[in-house]
Amino acid sequence: MSEVRDVVIVGSGPAGYTAAIYASRAQLNPVIYEGSVTAGGALMNTTEVENFPGFVDGVMGPDLMDSMRKQAKRFGTELITDDIVKMDLVGEIKTLVDGSGNTVRAKSVILAMGSAYRQIGLVNEQRLSGHGVSWCATCDGFFFRDQEIAVVGGGDSAVEEAMFLTKFASKVVMIHRRDSLRASKIMADRAAANPKIEFMWNNEVIDVLGESKVAGLKLRNTVDGSQSERAFAALFVAIGHIPRSELISTQITLTSEGYVEVQGRSTRTNIQGVFACGDLVDHTYRQAITAAGSGCQAALDAEKFLAHH
Ligand code: NAP
Repeated sequence: MSEVRDVVIVGSGPAGYTAAIYASRAQLNPVIYEGSVTAGGALMNTTEVENFPGFVDGVMGPDLMDSMRKQAKRFGTELITDDIVKMDLVGEIKTLVDGSGNTVRAKSVILAMGSAYRQIGLVNEQRLSGHGVSWCATCDGFFFRDQEIAVVGGGDSAVEEAMFLTKFASKVVMIHRRDSLRASKIMADRAAANPKIEFMWNNEVIDVLGESKVAGLKLRNTVDGSQSERAFAALFVAIGHIPRSELISTQITLTSEGYVEVQGRSTRTNIQGVFACGDLVDHTYRQAITAAGSGCQAALDAEKFLAHH
């Protein structure tokens, strides 16, 4: 059997890496499972982050994550680019199994698995995923140069995606189910001022059209119920996220929306020695800085727990 670690961290966004920085500085020899394809978390798919304190001129999301990763490594965090596929969290010693079949045992676990993109839930959305349906403008926007692109959603993510896509597209149409954006005012104002962005209010996507690639969308007006079709070369879905809690749902108490429930202002879950942070917990703020802050809290909570046990 492998040694028993003090702390295992699962997930590597700002929450996971910050937990790793604090835990390694506290001499807890943490190991962090960064994920096989999602290492670095959601910020790997963003462009410029303008609101992370300390970066006067902004910082690129992937660069910020790379710096956090290097900082965690500098203090001795062991970084493993693999997923955890199984966790047994109950009891004094927690057992986790990674995607390569290796087992790691630990006295405490910090859960920082973040969240995944929410899907509209249409059959053809799935079928044409990677063929014009995308959740990542920075990854796929380039392929739709000089074409008309649809973005569905009305939050900051949708605006961010739409703004980015105007670099390539001839026009970006933001399709939103209500008559105003949920996005912050500064973002909404930027979108409204962009001549390449058109708004289609009070509409929802009910089907994605096209055989081998996206050719258009079928829409329903949310006010009068009327249906219409419009040609688009691509659909970018930016309608929020769902917490990645499926692996632990039978052991850890979750909220009705699937987020991990923590005690008060702490990161403690219902299981002793298991802590949770970042987007896995937070359905309200969901910022890089708040995720990093909660990662710090999780490491401090774990340190305190280990000192008492
Ligand atoms: P969000 O704020 O939850 O917005 C989701 C949007 O998608 C809403 O407009 C919602 O409509 C719509 N929506 C949800 N389910 C839908 C469905 N099934 N069909 C059609 N539309 C649907 O999510 P987000 O934009 O990803 O932002 C999450 C958090 O990250 C926010 O706190 C945001 O401020 C933050 N964020 C910040 C930045 C930045 O500061 N640069 C960038 C990105 C994200 P309704 O409005 O009708 O509910």
